[in-house]
Amino acid sequence: MVRLEVITGPMFSGKSEELIKRLRKAQHGQKRILVIKPKTDKRTENKIIARQQKAEGLGFEPHDELEAIPIGSEEELRNLIIEKRPEVVGIDEAQLFGNWIVDFLELLMKMRAAPNHAGEAPRGELLIIAAGLDLDAWRKPFDPMPALMAMADEIRKEAAVCFVCHGKFGPAVYTQKKGGTSERIEIGDAELYEARCRTCHKIPDIE
Ligand SMILES: [Zn+2]
Repeated sequence: MVRLEVITGPMFSGKSEELIKRLRKAQHGQKRILVIKPKTDKRTENKIIARQQKAEGLGFEPHDELEAIPIGSEEELRNLIIEKRPEVVGIDEAQLFGNWIVDFLELLMKMRAAPNHAGEAPRGELLIIAAGLDLDAWRKPFDPMPALMAMADEIRKEAAVCFVCHGKFGPAVYTQKKGGTSERIEIGDAELYEARCRTCHKIPDIE
């Protein structure tokens, strides 16, 4: 079977944790797994890190991690797929990949689902699990996530706990940018971003 699952939501909502959980399940099932992350995410070199909020509510600490291969271009990913022929592909920070990832995954799924030479069964098995931000800090859909969500067989939306009201006004569904530049893509953690609810979120006031 060929299938695409998307895990999405704001920063600090546990997307990477859910991704790692699903990939571990596949590992236990003896699947050939390829885990990738965008090269532009320099917070960690070659792994996905899931963090959880500290018990006292201040800051985050690493909770779980998984090896991942940083990808800088479509060609790099194509060569890896040809080399490793994965049955499961895990993608972290999918919003940081270019829009090319949409057509790339669509074609890959179509190729694996195509009938074999005898026309009796699909050529291969493939489960793609992509985790990424649904919205940017301006509350606008974060390409390429909208297209991936439209193509997906299953979408799981995660919410975080609002850094300001701690859940009093509702779940945190947005990412708040605190300073930095007006660039949509600026790599950072809790020093630059917060999760906020609809009541507490503000459009960044950055020139
Ligand atoms: Zn709030």
